[in-house]
Amino acid sequence: MRNHAEFRWSYWRYCGRQSARIFAIFSVGAVTFLGVWLLAGLVSPQEDPTVRSEAAMAFAVVVVLAAIGLTVRHAESDARLDPGLLCPWCNSPLAHLHGIIVLSSGNCPHCGERVLED
Ligand SMILES: [Zn+2]
Repeated sequence: MRNHAEFRWSYWRYCGRQSARIFAIFSVGAVTFLGVWLLAGLVSPQEDPTVRSEAAMAFAVVVVLAAIGLTVRHAESDARLDPGLLCPWCNSPLAHLHGIIVLSSGNCPHCGERVLED
């Protein structure tokens, strides 16, 4: 059984990974927008800049939505990367918002068993 400090550290590392992932998704969107906008300017320089911007934004939104979809699809396996964020009784992930419940109560929100030492 883990103590509060160990679990809090694991949970903050998990939150940091998720924050980095969100930043990476928006960075990919921004780079995609800029790349498509510049490429469209090279291919047809006489095109209206507004049309280029709209096309680049549409393409970037599709890329960002695909990246978000992949992130959501792998959320369950990502939550299981750290064994310290798994319930020792029911093996459920204690990441996401469940970590806040564990930190405040010391119990698993799935099975109700005690997972943190006092
Ligand atoms: Zn449990």
